[in-house]
Amino acid sequence: MKKYNFNAGPSILPDEVIKQTAEAVIDFQGEGLSILEISHRAKYFQPVVDEAVALMKELLGVPEGYSVIFLGGGASLQFCMVPYNLMEKKSAYLNTGVWAKKALKEAKGFGEAVEVASSAESNYIYIPTEYEIPQDADYFHITTNNTIYGTELSDKKLQDIYKKKGNVPLVADMSSDILSRPIDVSQYGIIYGGAQKNLAPAGVTFVIVKNELLGKVSRHIPTMLDYRTHIDGGSMFNTPPVLPIYSAMLTLRWLRENGGVEAAEKRNIKKAELLYDCIDHSKIFVGTAKEEDRSRMNVCFVLKPEYQDLQDDFFKFATERGMVGVKGHRSVGGFRASLYNAMTLEGVQALVDCIREYEKRM
Ligand SMILES: *Cc1c(COP(=O)(O)O)cnc(C)c1O
Repeated sequence: MKKYNFNAGPSILPDEVIKQTAEAVIDFQGEGLSILEISHRAKYFQPVVDEAVALMKELLGVPEGYSVIFLGGGASLQFCMVPYNLMEKKSAYLNTGVWAKKALKEAKGFGEAVEVASSAESNYIYIPTEYEIPQDADYFHITTNNTIYGTELSDKKLQDIYKKKGNVPLVADMSSDILSRPIDVSQYGIIYGGAQKNLAPAGVTFVIVKNELLGKVSRHIPTMLDYRTHIDGGSMFNTPPVLPIYSAMLTLRWLRENGGVEAAEKRNIKKAELLYDCIDHSKIFVGTAKEEDRSRMNVCFVLKPEYQDLQDDFFKFATERGMVGVKGHRSVGGFRASLYNAMTLEGVQALVDCIREYEKRM
């Protein structure tokens, strides 16, 4: 049976990326060695990192004056690396979910970290707009896509933030929507994320950083937590996650061959519309996120109150039809279908057909 992978992360990658990665594990570029056993210093691997960096810059339109680096530690390590490198006294955070809250918690260890607004009281079903960004903050932190709740900063809300931020550098956790749409990188001081949602297998973190923001804090920064170490070392200061970087490079090639982020956005809009439309017309399901903040990457829905007891039954029904990973995050319940770049329209249609078929039995 064909399986459709709706996992939230680690998550679906393009078939050809999986296949090419598997080939490199057996024989890396005809060298007679596995990618798992070559030196990262070897002549073979430097071109991989160089190409991955170049493709990130090309696909996202990264301007001059920014560095792209690949690190370990996940997005979660960035929660503390960001304040370590940028925060002298004060920072500001928009609390739109558990990941944003975890980022805020780390910053509190470095000084005054202000929560400018929060939608925690509604279990994060929307993204707040009524707030000011303190102009004396060293940066303002946002999470562009809230993986657990299925909310995403729309282009309109991003534009508002670009206006509102004034001269305060903007820092964004883009773990779960990087490369899913065009983004104006010049508006940001730092963009970071775990690559295991939309780019690579688990184990690598991408960071795009505006060089001029670094070297301004007075504290000592441990070598491994200093962005400058990894910029100067070309992501090779120490042993980088070789295999995930290779897969990331393959995913970036795939994305370029398929029209880049502009084309990806068009496909992502179509996929999300198809599923939201199905849920909006459903007898038994209802979407959880506020409509204007709906994510194109993670579609969250629950059973209507009168159908609550069908939870396990629908999950079983969907699983039997090849739908993988449609269970909601434990803090939200219900269902979540993640529609990252590699998910096809055909896959989303299969889920829609499954939902309709289930409803017919009511
Ligand atoms: C998954 C996720 C994280 C955590 O990433 P790790 O790489 O596991 O640390 C952080 N932020 C967002 C928005 C995520 O989706």
